[in-house]
Amino acid sequence: MNNASDPQYADKLAQIALRLKSHAGSIIVAAHEDPDGDALGSVLGLTRALQSLGLDAVPVGVPPKYLEYLPQVGELTSSLEVLPEGALLVALDSAEVTRVIGVPMDQTGIPIINIDHHGSNPRFGEIALVSPDKAATAIMVKDLIAALGVKLTAEIAAPLLTGVITDTGFFRNSNANGEVLRSAADLVEAGASMVAINEALGITTRNSFKLQSEVYATIAYDLGGKVISAFVNDAILERVGCTWEEVESLVSHLRSAEGTLLAVLYKDYGDKVKVSMRSKASVSAQNIAVALGGGGHVPAAGATVQGNLEEAKRLLLQQAQLELTRVGAL
Ligand code: 5GP
Ligand code: MN
Repeated sequence: MNNASDPQYADKLAQIALRLKSHAGSIIVAAHEDPDGDALGSVLGLTRALQSLGLDAVPVGVPPKYLEYLPQVGELTSSLEVLPEGALLVALDSAEVTRVIGVPMDQTGIPIINIDHHGSNPRFGEIALVSPDKAATAIMVKDLIAALGVKLTAEIAAPLLTGVITDTGFFRNSNANGEVLRSAADLVEAGASMVAINEALGITTRNSFKLQSEVYATIAYDLGGKVISAFVNDAILERVGCTWEEVESLVSHLRSAEGTLLAVLYKDYGDKVKVSMRSKASVSAQNIAVALGGGGHVPAAGATVQGNLEEAKRLLLQQAQLELTRVGAL
């Protein structure tokens, strides 16, 4: 884990801008598997900016249902079977090269430009710009677009603002700093609509309400009420008619629980449990996730525990106790 910001941030942006502008072949723009608002927003924002320069940029990804409003019809390539000759890959928001989705990475020697804000990123690629102090990859992409000399348009700004909004928990997480608000202001002034994005992201389907009621029924409080948790499994999803991707936003709701410092959602797949965490104040969800073999950011992190729900809870509470003790909360 290296949470230091990249000391050569501006220089690398200029270097990347030059590399992209002088590239003759296709530029594949892709992000991590199970893309979130920051991943897809960054892909679409950068692609549109590159295309405005006449570059052959190809955005790759499949949006989850709640982000289907982001791309235009036919804009995204779901996955590439073969890489075009002479292609360059821009990997966005991808902490591991193996998590880049839709690109046949095993075939390659493809040169990679790695732009990300996860501290655990091993700095892979020909140029790696990794800055964990940035709240969203979308902010780094916005800076890159400025380095490219492209003026922000509404079409470029809207997906980037989606990334900023989702990665800061609607500006509520501890990473919502001045730079975030200034960047958001620039994006709004360029034509991105905060109202439209919040409306689109805030839609709750009938089945999602049923899901919420089932998941909230599993809520438990631990460590003196400082940790709130709930779980979801296939049986619940089947009963309410939802899919796993509709589970994503629930942990942010749990985070609002009075008196808590850590919210945990256990996604119980039977043979393994994916743990999704959100923390408040100086509590680091990242520390807990890393101890469990996962990663993420200080206020939002996750890990996968091999084993059943009981085992996952035991391991998580063990690490949560250490973290809460570290910050003096226990
Ligand atoms: P979420 O809870 O929204 O799935 O994830 C929050 C953050 O934690 C994201 O930045 C995500 O990349 C990271 N994260 C979630 N699960 C894992 C995991 O199993 N391993 C790693 N390295 N990061 C994870
Ligand atoms: Mn991100």
